[in-house]
Amino acid sequence: MDTEPLIADECHGCEEIAHALAVGEFEVYYQPIVDLGTLEVAGAEALVRWPAAGIRGYVVDDLVESVESCGLVGQLDEWVLRTALDQLAAWQTDAIVSSSFNLCINASSLDFDSPDFPGRMARAISDSGVDPTGVVIEVTETRALSDLAGARRSATAVHEMGMRLALDDFGSGYSNFARLQALSFDIFKIDRCFTEVCDTTVGSAIVTSLVELARALGTRVVVEGVETTDQADRMFRAGCHEGQGYLWAPAVPAALMEEFLRGTSPLTPLRLAKPKVNPALIDLAGP
Ligand code: C2E
Ligand code: CA
Ligand code: CA
Repeated sequence: MDTEPLIADECHGCEEIAHALAVGEFEVYYQPIVDLGTLEVAGAEALVRWPAAGIRGYVVDDLVESVESCGLVGQLDEWVLRTALDQLAAWQTDAIVSSSFNLCINASSLDFDSPDFPGRMARAISDSGVDPTGVVIEVTETRALSDLAGARRSATAVHEMGMRLALDDFGSGYSNFARLQALSFDIFKIDRCFTEVCDTTVGSAIVTSLVELARALGTRVVVEGVETTDQADRMFRAGCHEGQGYLWAPAVPAALMEEFLRGTSPLTPLRLAKPKVNPALIDLAGP
């Protein structure tokens, strides 16, 4: 992937995105993360949504790519971070979540490397009043993470603040042992491309080796893109601790996530959503 930022003139979405940020058109949805042993909700991932643009078919992957190209990813990520932290703080205060509940928040590697990331993060934590032990910051190596010294500084800050660090899309990026060691990840999130093929000989061998590596490093494993009970069973037997995917629920608005947490709504509200449909369209369908 091209990681060189485009100049503003070349990106036709910049103005539209800056406007959407200014007028508050973005929303944060939450996808439950399920304990594969107990099938209880163990956490959630905060995912940005842009309902107004979804109508025009703007998928989130494209949005994040455009925001990175425009140089606005730091701003968007900070807004998502603050919104998600405020939400978690409210759930913690109202005892809707237990102390073991983890809220995962994505940080673009382009922003995670930057020198002011630790300071911005500390201010957001302090302003929200959240218990930071319930917060997980996810970074992916598929998007650059080129400045290892900067990433290490941010990783240390994340740990010093009491949060944990997850490597997103594990297995699909440029992970090497030096990086894995340098950044002290607490959680590996196995990319959904491996979940898709976990019933094949090669796929299951890859999953086994990723879990072995995690086990050797003392890292927890979350598997992404679980769409069938067979995949959930296989991943559990392979040693994964938690999973997320359309089998249980797509990303949903905070109010519906709260219903899952209170147990007033069963997971799988959108069982009708067939696997492989555009996630942006599922999410827009609402509960
Ligand atoms: P990701 O972090 O790997 O997020 C998981 C993606 O998989 C989400 O796509 C989610 O909707 C989708 N997904 C979840 N379960 C399933 C499933 O069972 N099957 C399939 N096929 N897909 C599933 P989404 O929301 O479109 O996000 C795409 C990517 O955009 C994310 O991938 C993440 O890298 C990025 N992203 C999303 N929100 C943010 C954000 O606030 N900040 C940053 N920096 N990146 C974000
Ligand atoms: Ca993620
Ligand atoms: Ca991922």
